[in-house]
Amino acid sequence: MLSEYVKKTPKSLSLYGIASRMMPYGVSSNYRYLPPYPLYLVKGKGSKVWDVDGNVYIDFNMAYGALGIGHSHPKLVKALKERFENSSILGFEFADTIKLAKIIKIRYNVDMVRFSSTGTEATMHAIRIARAYTKRKKIIKFEGHYHGSHDQLLVNVSPDKEGEKSVCSHGIPEDIVKYTLVAEWNNYDSVERIVRKDGNDIAAIIMEPVAMNMGIIEPDVSFLKGIFNLAKEYGILIIFDEVKTGGKYYSGASGYYGLKPDLITLGKAIAGGLPLSVIAGRKEIMSVIGPEKTAHGGTFNANPLSVVASIVTLTQILTQDSFYEVYKLNSLLSKGYKDLVEDLDIDITAVTWGASGTIFFSNYLPRNYREFLRIDKRIWYKYFWLMLSKGIIPMADYDEEWTISTQHNKEDIIKHLEVAEEVLRKIKSG
Ligand code: PMP
Repeated sequence: MLSEYVKKTPKSLSLYGIASRMMPYGVSSNYRYLPPYPLYLVKGKGSKVWDVDGNVYIDFNMAYGALGIGHSHPKLVKALKERFENSSILGFEFADTIKLAKIIKIRYNVDMVRFSSTGTEATMHAIRIARAYTKRKKIIKFEGHYHGSHDQLLVNVSPDKEGEKSVCSHGIPEDIVKYTLVAEWNNYDSVERIVRKDGNDIAAIIMEPVAMNMGIIEPDVSFLKGIFNLAKEYGILIIFDEVKTGGKYYSGASGYYGLKPDLITLGKAIAGGLPLSVIAGRKEIMSVIGPEKTAHGGTFNANPLSVVASIVTLTQILTQDSFYEVYKLNSLLSKGYKDLVEDLDIDITAVTWGASGTIFFSNYLPRNYREFLRIDKRIWYKYFWLMLSKGIIPMADYDEEWTISTQHNKEDIIKHLEVAEEVLRKIKSG
């Protein structure tokens, strides 16, 4: 299945040889390394990207969901050129940050906001803030949920073994994660068991409100509501990590489910592809931040380029109307996959949420990480390399999802489905 891809990408292979002598695995983020070698890209425009060999791909990965507005959106290009002429970073507060804080406050229904650069920083600070506010140490996370690359939450993100706490990286001492407790997604009892035992020591429950790092697994609404009630009973804070969901539905998962968590984190798509993240929430909780109180700092926090990009993205591009068009295209794509399942008699389950969707190579919709893990990854990889060799990047990995941007169009979806049909027929015929 790889041979077509290898034939088309000799320059990527050669760059990998050079890069891997200087950069571990030849990449800047572990997730960008997929064996046999990573794809090296040179540019993106609209819904497409180009690699070093001159191949063009319709991009449905959209930088792991960071490009809800597509590549090089003309409005962003114009605004950033103007901004850069007046400096990229000022070292003191940039006045327009206040405008952005107000936009986020209204759109995501939060009282106070602080900015960082990455999702990792946002979730790291959110749990620190929760601990400072509650004066408690423990936190609950869910198996299969990813909150970035910092020590405390790199626990049970993609474990093979069931029922054991497992750290997902070398170099993280067990001691550092002794306060991180792990529950099962969509299993209220697993949360209640931990809370009834340790509730008075638990600062926060952090979750991806729609799990998007094991495909897409929505929560049962009763499960979410149960957790909110339980947390209230014990004075535990709820943190919605909306780094993905916040840019995939107009007002994020909090808006979608009509819930008001104590804290939320945002990142990825909200700044149109520039690094910007947000920690936001209730006033009395956010007020623990400050000099000689709770640390939150960063040279690049709210850098003017990102702030301007985010204002333009949120007010002029990711509007209610444009989301409506995106949802329509997203349904078209998932319906196309559902039709293919009927035609080809193949085990695929398609699912969407907001601007995203995915396919599971199974005849059931997984409801938690264990059910997700049962799905055979090998078929996904066959599908992925074949799709790539035919000019479609369907998503970044088997546990990721596609993102429909405001620059995708109906032709992109039709092309995706034509290629998928060819690829799935090939897989089916062995
Ligand atoms: N939270 C979630 C839900 C994510 O999906 C990610 C990244 N995929 C992060 C946090 C970390 O964000 P970043 O890569 O910007 O550090």
